[in-house]
Amino acid sequence: MAGRKLQAPRGTFDVLPDEGRRRYELLRSAEEILGRAGYGYVSTPDFEDTELFARGVGEATDIVKKEMFTFEDAGGRSMSLRPEGTAGVCRAYVEHGMHKLPQPVKLWYWGSFFRYEAPQAGRYRQFTQLGAEALGSDDPSLDAELILILHELLEGAGVKGLRLKLSSLGDPDTRRGYADDLRAHLRAHEAELSDDVRARLDQNPLRAFDSDHPGTRAALEDAPRLIDRLRPEDAEHLAEVRALLDDAGLAYELDPTLVRGLDYYTRTVFEFESDELGAQRGVGGGGRYDGLVEELGGPPTPGVGWAAGIERILLASQREAPAPGASVFVALDEGASSLDAFRLVRALRQQGVAAQMEQAGRSLKGQLKHADRLEASRVAILGADGLAIRDMQSGEQRDVADVAEAVRLLVEELR
Ligand code: AMP
Repeated sequence: MAGRKLQAPRGTFDVLPDEGRRRYELLRSAEEILGRAGYGYVSTPDFEDTELFARGVGEATDIVKKEMFTFEDAGGRSMSLRPEGTAGVCRAYVEHGMHKLPQPVKLWYWGSFFRYEAPQAGRYRQFTQLGAEALGSDDPSLDAELILILHELLEGAGVKGLRLKLSSLGDPDTRRGYADDLRAHLRAHEAELSDDVRARLDQNPLRAFDSDHPGTRAALEDAPRLIDRLRPEDAEHLAEVRALLDDAGLAYELDPTLVRGLDYYTRTVFEFESDELGAQRGVGGGGRYDGLVEELGGPPTPGVGWAAGIERILLASQREAPAPGASVFVALDEGASSLDAFRLVRALRQQGVAAQMEQAGRSLKGQLKHADRLEASRVAILGADGLAIRDMQSGEQRDVADVAEAVRLLVEELR
């Protein structure tokens, strides 16, 4: 009896080879661009103690309150699938005593993240993020360097319609004082606010800036601005980041309403958006989190970083996938030795030439058609008593003495 067909869970997706090649290309360019700037690849677990995210990301955030996949393990401990990467990287920094290394410590990661969100184009329950973090220094050149690296990566990936928004959230005290004033301002306009914003006024009034609700937007128009009341040292830090971006020729919009959905940010915050995307416009963003490592039990340690969504980068770039790449296809005519074919592809691959052979019992005509589909540049046709190489571009065919000769010729021409 045939089994019932199953589907991937709602909000998740399968990656098939065409997209797989685009992803792999992105991963390779990330390793190259980040490696050049001294960032080392790290990987942390897909699930962590729930407490890490409650403390790190913040109890009052939507991510922790509504979007985490939390479960009890068989030992009764509360675990959560990671909704973001910075908390785990900071936990690892503390756990492995990386504060004793020469600072800053520069790290990057790539992996799956999980948020229970309403699925739509560009928003999934399991998605892939590429992220980078620089820990142990509050030098503004790190903020600028990270923003420029993310820009280079996104441009290199072919993301269209990129825009950069930049702001500063100051230090926690300034932010707290500001949150009180903003709350008071919004209370005075309470009737105009959306239910959602009103319900969160006590805990997190800054989230009002994320609302599209017309009444809320109107109430925010003459609201006080955090950026106008930064401490002099925080204003200076922002000015230095801006000067470096200006010098590098990267345009940005200073957006005092930029708040990000995580509690740990201090000072610099930024986000890249793409006009190519619909409602889910953010391709990548981040900022400084000078209190996070300490919050997680480490020594006072400044940090700055970003995360970018791989699925959104691919959606916004619409690049062709690179060809699967078989330079040589080995076809089998009637009576040919499949052992010879097997030896031929192995010898070619060992010498760095991409090669495939017939493995599905097609007719010779079918095999040539298949070689065409694979965009093979040569087909080696093995017969009962001989061997020929066909150039797929010119259609020219020449006889070759034996397998060894074919390998020698093909390697010479194709590698
Ligand atoms: P965040 O940690 O929320 O700042 O997210 C960083 C980046 O991850 C965003 O700019 C998106 O590109 C991507 N991202 C966040 N949430 C999702 C999601 N649910 N589905 C797909 N991509 C996401």
